[in-house]
Amino acid sequence: MDVLEHIPRTPRPEDTPRPAGVDNWRYAKGEIAQLWLDCANTGTNVISEAVLRELDRLLDQIKTDQPRALAIRSAKAGGFAAGADIDGFANLRGESAVKMLEQGHAVLDKLSDLPFTTIAVVHGNTLGGGLELALACDHRIGVDGVKVGFPEVQLGLHPGLGGTFRLTRLIDPVAAMQMMLTGSSAHDRKARKLGILDALVPIRHVDAAISAAAAGKLEHDTGGLRATALRTRAGRSLAATRMRSEAEKKAPNQHYPAPYALINLWEDHGGDPSAMQKAEIASFAKLLDSATAQNLIRVFFLRRKLKSEGKGNDGIQHVHVIGAGAMGAEIAAWSAMQGKRVTLEDVALEPLGEAVKRAVGIYDKKHLSGIDARDALDRMMPDPEGLGRARADLVIEAAPEKLEIKEKIYASLDGVMKPDAILASNTSSLRLADLVAATPDAGRFAGLHFFNPVSQMPLVEVVSHDAAEAKTLDRLAAFAEGIDRLPARVTDYPGFLVNRILGPYLMEAMVMLEEGKTKEDIDRAALAFGMPMGPVTLADQVGLDICLEVAKSLRHSLDRPMADTPDWLAEMVAQGHVGRKSGRGLYNYDTRETPPDTPADDPPDEIIDRLILPMCDAGVECLRKGVAQDADTVDAAVIFGTGWAPFRGGPMHYAKVRREVPRRLEALAADHGARFDPDKGWASFG
Ligand code: NAD
Repeated sequence: MDVLEHIPRTPRPEDTPRPAGVDNWRYAKGEIAQLWLDCANTGTNVISEAVLRELDRLLDQIKTDQPRALAIRSAKAGGFAAGADIDGFANLRGESAVKMLEQGHAVLDKLSDLPFTTIAVVHGNTLGGGLELALACDHRIGVDGVKVGFPEVQLGLHPGLGGTFRLTRLIDPVAAMQMMLTGSSAHDRKARKLGILDALVPIRHVDAAISAAAAGKLEHDTGGLRATALRTRAGRSLAATRMRSEAEKKAPNQHYPAPYALINLWEDHGGDPSAMQKAEIASFAKLLDSATAQNLIRVFFLRRKLKSEGKGNDGIQHVHVIGAGAMGAEIAAWSAMQGKRVTLEDVALEPLGEAVKRAVGIYDKKHLSGIDARDALDRMMPDPEGLGRARADLVIEAAPEKLEIKEKIYASLDGVMKPDAILASNTSSLRLADLVAATPDAGRFAGLHFFNPVSQMPLVEVVSHDAAEAKTLDRLAAFAEGIDRLPARVTDYPGFLVNRILGPYLMEAMVMLEEGKTKEDIDRAALAFGMPMGPVTLADQVGLDICLEVAKSLRHSLDRPMADTPDWLAEMVAQGHVGRKSGRGLYNYDTRETPPDTPADDPPDEIIDRLILPMCDAGVECLRKGVAQDADTVDAAVIFGTGWAPFRGGPMHYAKVRREVPRRLEALAADHGARFDPDKGWASFG
């Protein structure tokens, strides 16, 4: 829906000219002046240096025009502004970063000092620098569905254009800090309740709300007593101590300095906005120099690179999913949520019912409105008879990991699918080369490997094989991108890219358990490196049965030595102790045994290297074999498919920075065996 179509009365932005020499704004003079942010040549506004420079000039002009009020809004249907222009500041360092920040602050100060009422009308994404622009206004009117937040912490930063002192002054400072520390955004009603928005209105009432604000009829809640108490240093220190210990649980200081820098900033200067402003600039510039921020900014660019792999039109409106188990149900629910028409088939009825329940849960977690959730559910049709097979543009097979089952399904699709429809398999350990003979049309068959759970893991491997047509792969990549997942193009290889790299991490943990190391020591060492989950916990999560299968398949199909999996692992699987899903695995969930979630303080390097370096090695092997086209794709796929320590920039980047990896692998091979022998590809890597 085009939000702007529904805004009545005021001139639409396209009827409002861009002043001479201005590329990113449109300005309509009037008693209530209207300033539309409309960044040139893009569908999404970002707050760039040029946007601020132009705003600076425009504010001078508006000041001489002397309106009664100024409304700032966005001409883009998707939102007010998605944040600061990361391309613009990613390479800035030291003094030049400070200078750019000071200039930006001066512009927003000019806006906040205007002698008439200023009103930001925000809709859609209003994030980071966009929210800072809105916070510099006297009032914020939110349009239903607006989402506000400061995601900077995900880049190893905190707000840098005044957000830290403006938000902590505007609303309950603890709630403000919470938002900035977690990077979580507040959706419309929550933002209103927090006091970030002074009004929340449907689109058709925006003009009335602007008039009310201009007439001084919009009040905002100042956060009350608690905010006042926290303007004293003692009050803030108490709260800051709690925040530090909370932050320590989630993100240790040595890996993620931004939350601690933000807490210090507020504790030291929260009572004095102008001191906090200066300190914010210095702190932001310092963080920008840190390896963590540089690596996380790199991850931001990696995401963009994967997205660009999925450009183009997929020509896919209707998706038919075969197999409504753990994966099929999520693929169906997610695709329907993203606007696709979905039919979901299974040999049993029960999984179809469960799949609908699961979809309801996903839509709830993703904050879909009642109407949007109902529409998505309407688009997702259980189809026990498989009627969708003949109508779909894409058939995704997510049946059990058994060659015979998949072959039978493919044979039954022959002559049934539409002539240009694509068949994709979600297999994780079978080779496409082994499946392709059974498919109705090899050129229109490929792998589409989602990660579990689909609604949380952004990566999808688009897997080629010798007979796959380029158009099929392009359409699948575009489909993945179109449903808001990140496509990584890889070739048919044991474990494809991500599981080939992840396999040794899980298998080495089993060897260490066999040697007598404790599962907690192994997991806590991996957490200390920055992995989201230790390998023992991850094995339980994935399922020990699946781990065993993946290990077997890698061992049989790779031409290099792999670790043996201990006999007790196969015995556990045979007894049904397969991990979290059965209540008992390497940890016993039935007895409420919980895997550790705190990193080891001083973990042995040997454990970390034995877990991590084989992943770098497998990445180098994949590059040598052409499984992924470049090291950035490997890093992106591993980070978005597994959560691999993002602040380290990915396993290939880590290996480049830590140059001794091949030598260290040789030393590990001497101590622990040939599975650590460095791959031949190291000779041409780095
Ligand atoms: P699952 O066992 O949870 O679900 C499989 C479903 O397929 C079941 O509901 C079953 O009733 C149904 N089914 C069986 N035969 C069928 C047939 N002939 N026609 C239609 N439906 C049939 O399995 P899963 O974990 O969802 O895995 C499915 C596929 O996805 C496998 O190829 C697996 O390797 C792959 N995969 C799994 C994961 C994971 O973590 N579970 C991750 C990525 C990929």
